[in-house]
Amino acid sequence: MGKIMAVNAGSSSLKFQLLEMPEEKLITSGLVERIGLKASVFTIKVNGEKIVEVKDIENHSVAVKMLFEKLINLNIIQSLDEIIGVGHRVLTGGRSLTDSCVIGDKEMAIIENLVDLGPLHLPANLTGIKAFKEALPNVINVGVFDTAFHQTMPEEAFLYAIPYDWYETYNVRKYGFHGTSHKYVTLRTAQIMGKKPENINLVICHLGNGASICAVKNGKSVDTSMGFTPLEGIPMGTRSGNIDPAVVEYMMGKKNKSCKEIINILNKQSGYLGLSGLSSDSRDLLVAAKNGHKRAILAIEVQAKRIADYVASYHCYIGGADAIVFTAGIGENEATTRENIISRLAPLGVKIDPKLNACRGIERLVSTDDSTIKVYVVPTNEEVMIARDTLRLIQQ
Ligand code: ADP
Repeated sequence: MGKIMAVNAGSSSLKFQLLEMPEEKLITSGLVERIGLKASVFTIKVNGEKIVEVKDIENHSVAVKMLFEKLINLNIIQSLDEIIGVGHRVLTGGRSLTDSCVIGDKEMAIIENLVDLGPLHLPANLTGIKAFKEALPNVINVGVFDTAFHQTMPEEAFLYAIPYDWYETYNVRKYGFHGTSHKYVTLRTAQIMGKKPENINLVICHLGNGASICAVKNGKSVDTSMGFTPLEGIPMGTRSGNIDPAVVEYMMGKKNKSCKEIINILNKQSGYLGLSGLSSDSRDLLVAAKNGHKRAILAIEVQAKRIADYVASYHCYIGGADAIVFTAGIGENEATTRENIISRLAPLGVKIDPKLNACRGIERLVSTDDSTIKVYVVPTNEEVMIARDTLRLIQQ
């Protein structure tokens, strides 16, 4: 068919992967960092070799132009015509954009109206889309929303017990995030288990810097731990996860800070970082914990406890999981974290096999033969999911 670019634009960054579709073969990947600052860094991988260039890149449009120049100059493609579509990761589609879609003027306007729901991410996502539309005006741009997979949640799962008018008038509800990852992992796990996606029940633990748990019943998301924003749910690298909202007002008074400042602390200085006082990175905490650092141990245990709470509750909610699946940076790489979580679920009869579990970044069954629920590690691949959806919409 052709080549599809999967894009994830942040406020000062742009991650890209070029894939040959429908084969899903990775052609090249890379990242532009520090866009808009001095000494921006452009990195591209060609045949396993990393090429890095440092220069000032004023904005996303300049970054995209540079990317296309590199693709041609490095002989990765001969002509821009080889690119048949661009798929963009978009934080949220709100209540109206419930599936991936081609982004025309109407859809741009809808996303612009949703900026309140994702004030940090959505403007960056929009900037990325605009830059690619400008550079490749005749190519289809597709939005792939991190919320879309969770649109199948029933009302009882997505409604908060707050005045109903807040939902009806102001769209306050649980949206969930990491949907592209949870969807990829659902389809891949079904394949591994030799089941049809519509027949599979899973609890998926996407544990990265951001982290969320998803309850999948008959291949569809029926509940997830992130909410109206990615702040809800389990503690993460720097996010608190669930807390009593009354803490916000209390700490505003104690610290003489605005509501915005307190929410910012809950997003950026909490979780692993806040509890440990050390780092937001699980690798640092595991090393410190081994050396007996009390607060690093606490940070790890608080998170593991909360994850186990969600997994047990979702297992019941979906009428029994066929498998618990670990994915993303921590889920794929940290055997001790997987073991910590699964050992807390022993009363359910789920058991991890320490030998099988001693693995990193590979697809593997890690539970014992007599475990009541299978446990898998399945590396996620959001870019492939973005490229698949882009191809689907091109073909439509
Ligand atoms: P995000 O995409 O949300 O930024 P990732 O999925 O990349 O996050 O996960 C980052 C987390 O995974 C960090 O806490 C990091 O310490 C942890 N991690 C553990 N081992 C690895 C590894 N080998 N490579 C990358 N991240 C790892």
